Amino acid sequence: MRVAGKIALVTGAARGIGRGIAEKLGLEGADLAIVDLSAEALADTVATLATAGRKVLPLGADVGDRQQADGVVAAAIEQFGRLDILVNCAGINRDAILHRMTDEQWDAVIRVDLSAVFYLTRAAAVHMRQRGSGRIINISSASWQGNVGQANYAAAKAGVIGLTKTAARELAPKGVTANAICPGFIETEMTRAMPPDAWERIAGRIPMGRVGTPADVGNVVAFLASDEAAYVTGEVINVGGGLVL
Ligand code: NAD
Repeated sequence: MRVAGKIALVTGAARGIGRGIAEKLGLEGADLAIVDLSAEALADTVATLATAGRKVLPLGADVGDRQQADGVVAAAIEQFGRLDILVNCAGINRDAILHRMTDEQWDAVIRVDLSAVFYLTRAAAVHMRQRGSGRIINISSASWQGNVGQANYAAAKAGVIGLTKTAARELAPKGVTANAICPGFIETEMTRAMPPDAWERIAGRIPMGRVGTPADVGNVVAFLASDEAAYVTGEVINVGGGLVL
């Protein structure tokens, strides 16, 4: 029970990595506000967390919208009285080779994968600074270093790292840590949407010989959220079975 009694907010928790993170934090003792585009989509995650005996607040919101992003942080604090852990996991991709990428593809990914992280981190920072404690964990990607067809996604995910490191510097004196996790290749609906030959090519390059699971990422989030990680801030942790070193 590494986060017993803590209050966490996880975005993108309806499926995939976000769901894995929410369920792990619940198993480790946190009560949670969980966010996705619709509250109905969160039903399965709510059921798992309720079975584990956790209090859960499901919230439907588009976190790329500033008012809705501010709203979910406010709703979590109103429901539970405080917020200890923020995990920004909601994300999308709109891949295209650079010279064919449209403005719409660029804007959509920057909005959800970067601006939403800023909105939620800012809102949480106001609260966590006042309380003198807190954990911010942002899900970036191994693609932040550049990936063919992902100029928008790589730019957003690199931006998340700059944002996280700045938050770490600014918030360290206030007892708040901020870290980023870069998943490598994790089996979710996002990656299963790839053409099968691309899937096999990437999976075949993973030194550990298997594709990652949402639980692999959830385990690292649980550590960063725990008291054991109190002296860890501004770090970027790859969770990729050696895919990117
Ligand atoms: P996924 O598509 O399976 O799940 C993403 C979730 O985010 C969905 O439930 C979706 O509805 C939600 N979401 C999307 N836009 C939203 C918005 N505007 N507001 C609220 N919720 C929104 O994806 P995943 O593979 O689980 O990825 C989760 C995160 O991990 C993303 O940030 C992704 O970039 C990152 N990531 C994934 C991998 C991977 O291999 N799967 C690798 C590196 C990084």
